[in-house]
Amino acid sequence: MSLYTDAREVIAGGVNSPVRAFAGVGGEPVFFKNAKGARFQSEDGKEYIDYVGSWGPMILGHAHPDVIDTVVATARSGLSFGAPCVLETQIAEKICEMLPSADKVRMVSSGTEATMSAIRLARGHTGRDKIVKFEGCYHGHSDSLLIKAGSGALTLGVPSSPGVPAGLAEHTITLPFNDIDAVKSAFDEVGDQIACVIVEPIAGNMNMVPPVPGFHEALRDACTNAGALLIFDEVMTGFRVARGCAQSIFGITPDITTLGKVIGGGMPAAAYCGSADVMASIAPDGPVYQAGTLSGNPVAMAAGLKTLELIDDDAFWTALTAKTKHLVDGLAAAAADAGIPVAVECEGGMFGMVFTDQGPVRTYAQVAAADTERFKAFFHGMLNEGVYFAPSAFEAGFVSAAHSDDDLDQTIAAAAKVFAALVD
Ligand SMILES: *Cc1c(COP(=O)(O)O)cnc(C)c1O
Repeated sequence: MSLYTDAREVIAGGVNSPVRAFAGVGGEPVFFKNAKGARFQSEDGKEYIDYVGSWGPMILGHAHPDVIDTVVATARSGLSFGAPCVLETQIAEKICEMLPSADKVRMVSSGTEATMSAIRLARGHTGRDKIVKFEGCYHGHSDSLLIKAGSGALTLGVPSSPGVPAGLAEHTITLPFNDIDAVKSAFDEVGDQIACVIVEPIAGNMNMVPPVPGFHEALRDACTNAGALLIFDEVMTGFRVARGCAQSIFGITPDITTLGKVIGGGMPAAAYCGSADVMASIAPDGPVYQAGTLSGNPVAMAAGLKTLELIDDDAFWTALTAKTKHLVDGLAAAAADAGIPVAVECEGGMFGMVFTDQGPVRTYAQVAAADTERFKAFFHGMLNEGVYFAPSAFEAGFVSAAHSDDDLDQTIAAAAKVFAALVD
């Protein structure tokens, strides 16, 4: 018996989110009991350096004392009111200050809720049904967004999960990420029916794939000319890749931005935000309905606000960026020494590594063609060395401010050993 077999008795698949199972790498998931800074301890007493960071939120490291203090203090005053509290205004002010494209914010409890609501808002605001998304981009698990690519740009969408009605899928146009021509022809064909384009400004759910030059400009132009809205899904990249999110790097102003992960600081909080005009379409000001019993609950707001306050600092970003670059350069050098081809990327506190000799990686097809067997061996080798990477070849990695030079160098040394063993 293991903790996992116990869990499987009563939890569907033994996990409350499929990415936690080791389906992509084999073996049983590790159960954790506590975490502090860059490291966490498993139930069986092993310590790991963590590069998952709860899939992005833990940018300050685990259990940051200031965040824990404010969470505990806030909790003592009540967990949820279901009525307005000042912390909601404060975090919204903070988001608007750090993200110039946001005039108004609506808080929700998960990234899925944020993107689902943003899509409804775009449809309601424009009075159109069709949405454009990109292959390999993940926007949560709501029906309209769980669609994978058809063979041609305008092929009717095919649901990629059973349970997504075909009637909904046919309104989702899925295009190849970074394919500017495909975007142009989709808009030439049906631009007047497109409510919005939703995109991860740096794709982080197919490992890490940055946009090619001109991609976001092409999306912005196509949307503006067709009267469609541009949604940047920054649930992962928001306050993770830069102080002003990915949009500040590319100099693009989306109509709606979705946020999650970092803005909850480890508590369930997410948001969608945008121009005052677009956001005015949401109830109670406008007709597009969206609500949430626990939305904006004080404990999550306190954790998120404290996190944003601590990262709203240029020195923080310089240091975090340098840490991530140090790690990624070290991993790349170790791989090269062992004669293992990898392609690496990093931005702020986010990084990617793909086992391929076809880098730099700019398309979903390149990621899909990567050597997943080699990744599996690498993953288990690193786990054995006390380094916890995401258990899938298709995930990005995360460095926190709590990762010390020692943590990073220990990781690089472990990787050198594991890469060398991969060649034998
Ligand atoms: C994680 C993620 C989501 C979904 O957020 P949840 O909080 O898991 O529902 C949506 N979009 C992107 C880009 C994400 O990385």
